[in-house]
Amino acid sequence: MAGMGYSRVSHSFGYKMSQRITGHTELIGLIANPIRNSKSPMMHNTAFEALGLDYAYLVFEVDNSTLKEAVAGLRAMKVRGFNVSMPNKGPVMQYLDELTPAAKLCEAVNTVVNENGKLIGTNTDGLGFMLACKSQGMDIIGKKITLLGAGGAATAACMQAALDGVAEISIFNGNDSFMEHAYQNAERINRQTSCKAQVFYLEDTDALRREIESSVMLVNATGCGFCQPVGPCLIPDKSYLRSDLMVFDVIYSPMETQLLVWAKELGCKCSNGLEMMFHQGAAAFKLWTGKEMPLDVVREVFKEL
Ligand code: NAD
Repeated sequence: MAGMGYSRVSHSFGYKMSQRITGHTELIGLIANPIRNSKSPMMHNTAFEALGLDYAYLVFEVDNSTLKEAVAGLRAMKVRGFNVSMPNKGPVMQYLDELTPAAKLCEAVNTVVNENGKLIGTNTDGLGFMLACKSQGMDIIGKKITLLGAGGAATAACMQAALDGVAEISIFNGNDSFMEHAYQNAERINRQTSCKAQVFYLEDTDALRREIESSVMLVNATGCGFCQPVGPCLIPDKSYLRSDLMVFDVIYSPMETQLLVWAKELGCKCSNGLEMMFHQGAAAFKLWTGKEMPLDVVREVFKEL
């Protein structure tokens, strides 16, 4: 992917939106459903403005039933690139021209770059997860973690964790269509890295309690609780947690899921999905624009929410 980005400096920086968006402004989009609560537009548009880059980032409600037409439309409109989220991360691969090793490893794409008409899919979620751990002082290298989920975000997080030197990963998934992915993820981790991965059903609460007890971090990388008032949680109750457990929820809407409410009550070191979103977004931003995302400016804007 080296050299994929390029620079576009806006001449309208500092003007109102009606003046900033011109006939030259390039579109970058996000296709997913549900998506209206996404924080990605605020993050990317803040960064474009801060650097004076002539792009605009918008979200589009697209699911698997309209995905093919949406990708063809974005290609026809020559957009610079787009993000992909639930439920399109896997299915979108068939409509792209090329996949990076990260996308192939995760079998999921969250970022597409349009290189002169060629749509290249990659995945920055795993990098986002590991950088978010690092930036918040959550040290999991050489240690064991328990991870809930086997979808796009979970796959990216566990693959990058295994590649970066996490020693053991216990993967839990409910009895749904993603269970097969959980077994594939563990098989690939065990074959391709020195990390040891095991798979369990979420319904096996004895195993869940035991694996969390021997882990330094619990990660919720499922969509359970996403875009809902604080409510559902895949952990039956807070007795599964303990004060020296680190708890990471990839969800950032709401900012505090039931899992994080319980973890905070116990005094656990916690992270929601915001830092992960910043870092996965910064990696995509670099590919589209060739520039580093000004993370300090972005974090400051989000503090005011
Ligand atoms: P996906 O559709 O690929 O995977 C969904 C996963 O969640 C599967 O493992 C599925 O079994 C599980 N799941 C969903 N609802 C469940 C429920 N009620 N009970 C048990 N399991 C359930 O989705 P994805 O793209 O991996 O996204 C998952 C979540 O991660 C979403 O909330 C998304 O917003 C979030 N996410 C955050 C970031 C970030 O940067 N913070 C990045 C990517 C995804």
